[in-house]
Amino acid sequence: MAELRWTTTDAPGNKSALFDAVVERRIGRGAYTGLEFLHVESRTIINRIPQSSALPFEYTINAYRGCSHACTYCFARPTHDYLGLGIGRDFDTKIVVKINAPEVLRHETAPQRWAGHPIAMGTNTDPYQAAEGKYKLTRQIIEILAERGNPFSILTKSPLVLRDLDVLTRAAETAEISVNFSIGTLDTDAWSRSEPGTAHPRKRLDAVRRLNEAGISSGVLMMPILPGISDHPKQVEELVRGAAEAGARFIMGGYLHVRGPLKDHVLGWIDQDYPHLSRFYRHTYGTRSYAPPAMRRRLGGTIGRAKSAHGAPGGERRPPRDATPRKQPDPQLALFA
Ligand code: SF4
Repeated sequence: MAELRWTTTDAPGNKSALFDAVVERRIGRGAYTGLEFLHVESRTIINRIPQSSALPFEYTINAYRGCSHACTYCFARPTHDYLGLGIGRDFDTKIVVKINAPEVLRHETAPQRWAGHPIAMGTNTDPYQAAEGKYKLTRQIIEILAERGNPFSILTKSPLVLRDLDVLTRAAETAEISVNFSIGTLDTDAWSRSEPGTAHPRKRLDAVRRLNEAGISSGVLMMPILPGISDHPKQVEELVRGAAEAGARFIMGGYLHVRGPLKDHVLGWIDQDYPHLSRFYRHTYGTRSYAPPAMRRRLGGTIGRAKSAHGAPGGERRPPRDATPRKQPDPQLALFA
């Protein structure tokens, strides 16, 4: 069988490659037509993010690589390149499935070697993308974390998470958990062009409401907001209002961020779908990864005013990166990192 170039963590840029064999290739049928699933046996499942990354989480799990939600702006696209696959259509359709994820997680979180640190899911691929309907790896992972009383957070764009309300409710009884949604716009045209494989954002807001009603903390990340496409103050206010009405525990927003090979991918999409914005995007992102500070300040003001107008909560409640673990880890853990 073929081999994938594999990395020791899911962080883009980590080039210390391992090699995990693709043990089987499955062509998707029925609801999964157009997808190809590459089964791999992963050596590790919990990834530790380097302190230098400044990300608000230290440990992550990604049971899939690639994502059929196919968001044009997805910052994880370059990780497919590290696997020797393409960052365009390959990323959307060739989904790497770590079929042994539950078994490896059970081993890595055994009480003698794991200290119960918070784990983030959805940091590099959506744990509730279409493949989850078939493989149920995320569900099994949550079941294990619930058994262990291990805190975790999930970031998704899919109402499929509601399938697992039973196990999420169990997990919330023993640990701090949250299920957060990424919703960049409620504009149907902007949504269908930029996130063609996702559920309509109104369905996501409905999922936020249902999770909060069930006692599972759920907030909204309004990201990425696309300059000239979804950043009109009326669009932003409509989204803030929808999130506030859904009871979102936090609402945060921010502009598109592009760098490396993703920048060319996004600019190519703009040329094709929004040719009138081509020059503007090159001017905005040509020499930088983030939107200019003045634009970001304006957007921050719009979001802040909309939150005040709709009584939305202010800050975000994420576990601090240095959250104290339940107990000290066994040094043997280093063998599995
Ligand atoms: S849902 Fe997330 S991981 Fe999937 S393509 Fe969209 S941005 Fe990427």
